Amino acid sequence: MDFPLLVFTDLDGTLLDHQSYSFQGAAETLQRLQHHAIPLILTSSKTRVELEALQEKLRLHAPFIAENGGGLFIPRDYDLTATDLLETAGDYYTMVFGRPYSSIREVFETLRPRYSIKGFGDMALAEIIALTGLPEEDVERARQRDFSEPFIFLAEPRLEKLQEEAGAHGLQVVRGGRFFHLLGAGQDKGLAVAATTRLFQASCPRKITTVGLGDAANDLPMLRAVDIPVLVQKPDGSFEETRLAGVRCSPFPGSRGWGAAMTAILDEWLPQLGLGHSGGPEMTENTL
Ligand SMILES: [Mg+2]
Repeated sequence: MDFPLLVFTDLDGTLLDHQSYSFQGAAETLQRLQHHAIPLILTSSKTRVELEALQEKLRLHAPFIAENGGGLFIPRDYDLTATDLLETAGDYYTMVFGRPYSSIREVFETLRPRYSIKGFGDMALAEIIALTGLPEEDVERARQRDFSEPFIFLAEPRLEKLQEEAGAHGLQVVRGGRFFHLLGAGQDKGLAVAATTRLFQASCPRKITTVGLGDAANDLPMLRAVDIPVLVQKPDGSFEETRLAGVRCSPFPGSRGWGAAMTAILDEWLPQLGLGHSGGPEMTENTL
């Protein structure tokens, strides 16, 4: 199989709108990627089960990276040649970069009383629904964890001390939108993206060009690991701060910004790749 372009994307606030979780503003561009068989690799802090549900919604059948670079999941029927040395788990070939959830929970339970922290594993379904505002079925998916534990502080956060103690166990604490996360030290989206790129490159006769799109601090390692990094605007019009060379900034926030930035990249790259300018018969108007 021939993959001239490989696209990695964050979800919340990037491909999905911050408030509504809609990808409407990117729908035409997604069709165009599909038309040219350009792989789109979801690269998110979401769990495997959450990403499976989203892939179905987006009509994607591709590898994906779950839980902040914790693991790469490649459908076993996906057309890659260099998968024979990988582990298998259910319907997937996997590459694991994170620590197993059970071992993270073990450490979490020793830290819990001293730092007044409460994790997903300690919460009833209703409590997580109240904290996230997500529907029950989404919370059920978010609770099926492989590589990281989201948590809250019940008292004044002693983050520095906790970070230090987590480090002594080979773990780290990462701050997310609603929760803090306890996960394996050294694990990030960039490491997983680099390994995924190597895997695709081993199956592809020509040099692959990689694109990465993200909006927040945990996306920066991913943006450093790709050829064309794109920062998507936040809802208040600002951008995550970075000195990354050659970074492109989307003209709008969320899915509309994703669509516009990715359209510009396709317009620039498809003719060079001999794939033509048009996105096929479904592309009747230009969104830019
Ligand atoms: Mg995000």
